[in-house]
Amino acid sequence: MNTTSLGMPAFPEAAREALNNRTLRGNLRHATHTIRAKRARAVAEVSDWAELREAGKRIKDHTLRHLDRYLEQLEETVTAAGGTVHWAADAAEANRIVTELVRATGESEVVKVKSMATQEIELNEALEAAGIRAYETDLAELIVQLGKDRPSHILVPAIHRNRGEIRDIFRTEMAGWGRPAPEGLSDDPAELAEAARLHLREKFLRARVGVSGANFMVAEAGTLVVVESEGNGRMCLTLPETLISVVGIEKVVPTWRDLEVFLQLLPRSSTAERMNPYTSMWTGTTDGDGPRAFHLVLLDNGRTDTLADEVGRQALRCIRCSACLNVCPVYERAGGHAYGSVYPGPIGAVLSPQLRGTTSEIDASLPYASSLCGACYEVCPVAIDIPEVLVHLRERVVEGGPAVRNGNRVVLKPAKGHAAERAALRAAGWALARPGVLRTGQRLASRTRGFRPRTLPGPGRAWTATRDLPAVPAEPFRDWWLRTRGGKDDAR
Ligand code: SF4
Repeated sequence: MNTTSLGMPAFPEAAREALNNRTLRGNLRHATHTIRAKRARAVAEVSDWAELREAGKRIKDHTLRHLDRYLEQLEETVTAAGGTVHWAADAAEANRIVTELVRATGESEVVKVKSMATQEIELNEALEAAGIRAYETDLAELIVQLGKDRPSHILVPAIHRNRGEIRDIFRTEMAGWGRPAPEGLSDDPAELAEAARLHLREKFLRARVGVSGANFMVAEAGTLVVVESEGNGRMCLTLPETLISVVGIEKVVPTWRDLEVFLQLLPRSSTAERMNPYTSMWTGTTDGDGPRAFHLVLLDNGRTDTLADEVGRQALRCIRCSACLNVCPVYERAGGHAYGSVYPGPIGAVLSPQLRGTTSEIDASLPYASSLCGACYEVCPVAIDIPEVLVHLRERVVEGGPAVRNGNRVVLKPAKGHAAERAALRAAGWALARPGVLRTGQRLASRTRGFRPRTLPGPGRAWTATRDLPAVPAEPFRDWWLRTRGGKDDAR
């Protein structure tokens, strides 16, 4: 399996493959149903959850509106606390900065805290190309890395694996990365966790460079925050001599008071806990305590473009809790890999096409990877109206289609199948604007209903392959109304 998302097929194709995998469907169903039930209980304990959610939404919207101001403030406070701030416009620049920083230490390996931003820019692959080995230390990320796999969930990247599969990966792969799995390792969760602990400990104690992301950055203090459950993050953030944090620019919050809101929203929405087992915060460097050098790489990589879209920008409020994945009927069946991105599920369907543009088949297909049931919006702790953004992005795809390179120019090309959809809607618009034409068409359809085909021809065939064509009534509604209620037919 690919370890990156490059060249992924469009969502329907990738999802079809996933749907044939019964083990995957079973693993996903069990995991998502367990987490969603726990989350619902944890949220129900908070009487003012709706107000908290509204506060989170407002703080994020305010921050995004004044992002330039808060980022500059953050740069000042981080620098004043002894850190160094780097600005990266895209993935390539961020990877270059981190590679050079690691090289400057003379080290050839780093330990990593679980981080979506570094997965987004494919930092591990860039470091590997530069001869630097990155060790993932989050348990699920370790499973993904050892299995040469790709993450399929924001919070639980190995959600698609069951215990037996994890045992097999540990048995066969651990030795190639360091301490091997213990003899006779079973699929008992405690034994698996112990094997991972022993394997990782030697890496924590040896590492001189740590790489992390951050859940939040507090502008007024220059403080970064990582919340986690395993303690591996705490080890990576405190033991190495150099710490490099790669963080998306939307992760800034103005003040400590704002952070308080998110530290209540995030744990209940993600792991269904009242508070995280480990909440690590650091502000620059401190003599004799923790890393001696701290670098913050602020990552744009499509976020500024997303901010320019009035409807789509709300996706930047996301705090990566993954609640929307756990309730999504499409994600539950298709799994995370089908989304071709480190951001799967409903948030991935709106975030990836905005961060990466709709230049690839997979990104142009993602806004359609939803039934628009709205469950994602209901559970989102920062009230992102994902269905609204999905519909908005569908409009963008239909109107413009994916952008393709034509010589030196980037041009918009109608997406496959969407040209027919546009033509059909144009014809419908024309008929609906002419009541006389509409009436004639309806009567004609009623009279010829006996000849109605069971399937549509051409591109419509795929639609009728899984649906029945609606029956045509023997009498059009307008005629029925005139006959039963009377009145004048003023259709011309
Ligand atoms: S969109 Fe909302 S529910 Fe989904 S991961 Fe982001 S914050 Fe959580």
